[in-house]
Amino acid sequence: MPKLTLDDVNLRGKRVLIRVDFNVPLDTAEDGSPAVADDTRIRAALPTIRHVLDQQGKVILISHLGRPGGQPNPDLSLACVAEHLGSLLDERVRFSSNTVGDTVEEVVDGMNEGSVILLENTRFDSGEKGNDESFARGLAALADVYVNDAFGAAHRAHASTAGVAQFVDMAVMGRLMESEIDALTRVRDNPDHPMVAILGGAKVSDKLGTIRALSDSADHLLIGGAMSYTFLKALGRDVGTSRVEEDRLDTAESLYEDAEGRIVLPSDHVVADALDEDADASVVGADIPDDLMGLDIGPETVETYREALSEAETIVWNGPMGVFEIEQFAKGTMAVAEAVADATDDGAFSVVGGGDSVSALSRSGFTERISHVSTGGGAMLTFLEGAPLPGIEALSDA
Ligand code: ADP
Ligand code: MG
Repeated sequence: MPKLTLDDVNLRGKRVLIRVDFNVPLDTAEDGSPAVADDTRIRAALPTIRHVLDQQGKVILISHLGRPGGQPNPDLSLACVAEHLGSLLDERVRFSSNTVGDTVEEVVDGMNEGSVILLENTRFDSGEKGNDESFARGLAALADVYVNDAFGAAHRAHASTAGVAQFVDMAVMGRLMESEIDALTRVRDNPDHPMVAILGGAKVSDKLGTIRALSDSADHLLIGGAMSYTFLKALGRDVGTSRVEEDRLDTAESLYEDAEGRIVLPSDHVVADALDEDADASVVGADIPDDLMGLDIGPETVETYREALSEAETIVWNGPMGVFEIEQFAKGTMAVAEAVADATDDGAFSVVGGGDSVSALSRSGFTERISHVSTGGGAMLTFLEGAPLPGIEALSDA
């Protein structure tokens, strides 16, 4: 069911409560105070914020940050994000250390049109993750219109992502949410063929539903990363001491068989005796010796994957091909990033998502050449799987 967007509401003079994804990495500034280490997610919310300001709405921002476990934790305060946002907008951004309650309601009621306030981390309240009605009503009391622009959190039914929408008159998608849905719908429902999906990363079990969906819709599903060893072992290969999920061997085998040749597995590997930057790395063929572990796809596999990608009209990628955090196991991931960028230059539509995948992509330097870099990890996988996202379902129908 299509949902209302920012274009469907009159925002002038309204209190517009925007759920953004300001769950950003932090580090420590020179003076010892916390600071934003990477502001990609803050920048991604700017089109929505600017639209509401242009329309003379009052901008009230809410987000979670990290995992404070339902209680206040000064190390996970959004105060430094308010300051950072202020510098990006070139506008004063107020900060409220209360997220719900009389004090913040009074502050919000007194706001001028075209002004901005960021409220404290929603996860300082246990009602957020519990999706408690009272916390959701507390948030709704601050809003004439609720906007969900936090695609990265849309797969969670929390008070600020889903519950709050029940208690407001209008609940609409923000610009980032719209662009994520547009790009991912194109890949999921209407891809140009050949479509090539690349899945890697840590675990098969994280991504089972997505593997199943993509092995159906893609012409080739290229597998890399640790998850490939569960598949390879299930098919009778020697995988040495590589990471394997023993309890998923049967599932992996049946996924592989059902895909009728569309799932492609690595034919060679970069191996070492330990997951260590100083370990001796070497390349082996399809079978891995007993005392070694697979930590990256090998050069022959890179060639196979590059070739498949060069033919693609649609590409979706989640999950690194190896332990890209360590230089000597990063080559496969970097080569795939380049192959996706090259295919995009040749006219393919490409989508890359996942926390580690996006950081690997950024390390490769090819981010700008990708059609759509998703801000979602779990949310993107859930969407591609075809499962409903509570944060979208909760919005007003168009
Ligand atoms: P994303 O965040 O993009 O969804 P994941 O979290 O699923 O990706 O997986 C990323 C992690 O998988 C990285 O930390 C990487 O080091 C690890 N990884 C990839 N290949 C291997 C491997 N062969 N052995 C162990 N860990 C691996
Ligand atoms: Mg990850």
